[in-house]
Amino acid sequence: MQKKNSKGLLIYGAAVVILLCFMFFSQNAFRSAERVSNAEFQNAAESGEIVKAEIVQSTAVPTGKIRFTVNGGSVKEVTVSDVVKTEEYLSDKNVPFLVSEVPTSGIFENVLLPVLLSVVLFMLLMSFMTRSSGGGSNAKMMDFGKSRARKASESDKKVTFADVAGLKEEKEDLESVVDFLKNPGKYTKVGARIPKGMLLVGPPGTGKTLLAKAVAGEAGVEFFSISGSDFVEMFVGVGASRVRDLFQTAKQNAPCIVFIDEIDAVARRRGTGMGGGHDEREQTLNQLLVEMDGFGVNEGIIVMAATNRVDILDPAILRPGRFDRKVMVGRPDVQGREEILRVHAKDKPLGDDVDLKQIAQTTAGFTGAELENLMNEAAIHAAKEERSFIRQQDIKEAFIMVGIGTEKKSRVVSEKEKRITAYHETGHAILFHVLPDMEPVYTISIIPTGPGAAGYTMPQPENDSMFNTRGKMLQHITVCLGGRVAEELVFDDITTGASQDIKQATATARAMVTKYGMSEKLGLVAYGDDSDEVFIGRDWGHTKNYSEQVSAAIDEEVQSIISECHQRARDLILEHRYVLEECTRQLLEKEKLNRQEFEAIFQQEAEAGTES
Ligand code: ADP
Ligand code: MG
Ligand code: ZN
Repeated sequence: MQKKNSKGLLIYGAAVVILLCFMFFSQNAFRSAERVSNAEFQNAAESGEIVKAEIVQSTAVPTGKIRFTVNGGSVKEVTVSDVVKTEEYLSDKNVPFLVSEVPTSGIFENVLLPVLLSVVLFMLLMSFMTRSSGGGSNAKMMDFGKSRARKASESDKKVTFADVAGLKEEKEDLESVVDFLKNPGKYTKVGARIPKGMLLVGPPGTGKTLLAKAVAGEAGVEFFSISGSDFVEMFVGVGASRVRDLFQTAKQNAPCIVFIDEIDAVARRRGTGMGGGHDEREQTLNQLLVEMDGFGVNEGIIVMAATNRVDILDPAILRPGRFDRKVMVGRPDVQGREEILRVHAKDKPLGDDVDLKQIAQTTAGFTGAELENLMNEAAIHAAKEERSFIRQQDIKEAFIMVGIGTEKKSRVVSEKEKRITAYHETGHAILFHVLPDMEPVYTISIIPTGPGAAGYTMPQPENDSMFNTRGKMLQHITVCLGGRVAEELVFDDITTGASQDIKQATATARAMVTKYGMSEKLGLVAYGDDSDEVFIGRDWGHTKNYSEQVSAAIDEEVQSIISECHQRARDLILEHRYVLEECTRQLLEKEKLNRQEFEAIFQQEAEAGTES
């Protein structure tokens, strides 16, 4: 690879040199003489120094150039405004001169050179094109179609799981990949199919790249990384050629890890481009799919890719045999943050008063990268004050620095907001748990995930059921309202935080009435045309096929469904007041609870109930 590279460069360099020579010489035909001012020319003429002169009239009469040789033998040149007058002047001074024709070299300069230049450029361009789309073509002028995959060099410090703080579950998920890379035989013997591709999904800075590197480090295999945006070039076919090249290199270096950062840049859903397709990207994506299907399952290549948007990825990329495993990499919880802070404080001397636990508590929503930045800013602050260690105050100052000027500031949540969020999410969680048709709670979190998203309660991924029943839809509405209900029960005031929930509840209730004929009052009639499938301009093209009275009846029915569910949510949460309080307390402490931890609280409640 290195050889070919330098050869391509050589040819390219030679072309450039030749071009430059052309330009230089063409200019030089004119410019071998020293340019002098008019005054100097006249001086020379007056003092009789000029031996001979040549008048070159330019095409733009009456100006021209006088080229004259002085006593010493040096040739000088001056531009004059009127050639005829100069002729008279020179004969006056008895200087021998001759008048040249309009220079022939002008033809070269004005006509030939541009033509030559464009021919050479065109040829260069053509060779790029054929090289990149032809792939195997021999005209490798430059390594344009070469993948830019960077191989982590030996000198790079090896990253291992020990360098990745927090992310315990994520590391466990990747443990199997490490094991496979270490002893592939163990798996092939029993005919196990090892995933070829793993998708790391999470917001920027949460440690996806770090994790991928750590997998390579743990397994002791090569790590090739490339960014999705490197594939997207202005020349059609370059991306595809780079993909081909990347996998070729990987195959030669197996076992290894190929890491594609920002895969969404290439693997966006196809055919949704407004106004014309993105041929280049599609070609690249197709090539990627071809390559991933092309190598055997046990060739020892594992492709890892990172993105923060799974929703925009082309479904084809998620099919079995491709990126069929997903690892969600989330923002760290308090404990994770503390561990990350510790990792990045390792080579920084800390003062006695530094309390990383406390820092972890005040940085809810920060990613690993942000925490790293925070510690770095703190160190800079300490250095500015000529101190050789970091004090708590440095970190606090850094916190303000890092927070201000970015949208992160809005994510710095107050204690009160945290409390509200904790109650809100617990409200949802309790209802998920107690309502029979709802999935069990998988995670509850009050880690802010972005502006307007204070926390979340995630049910166990749903097993696809084909039908929604009336009962299930009512329960869904009830769960949606749970957050608001919990807020109502605990605080005098209510917040705007539940708007999304209310919207969802309303949409479900409305669909029950107008779409599924689930309201007795309005009967088995679909109101409004069903334009759900058209995703643009849905509300736009919505034509009403019913009267104002019906419209009012629908609203009334929707409202009655909602208030019925609201009452139910209230009753259920009140029944589990203990869980509400205890779960909130634990959330405030840990920020994140998993299924076991959450269900243990219900257990406690049940036990306490039987005792009394
Ligand atoms: P991503 O690829 O998800 O955008 P990176 O892996 O590039 O994030 O992380 C950027 C930097 O943030 C890392 O180099 C590391 O210094 C720091 N970092 C992120 N997550 C962690 C973590 N879990 N433990 C230690 N450092 C982390
Ligand atoms: Mg990254
Ligand atoms: Zn909610």
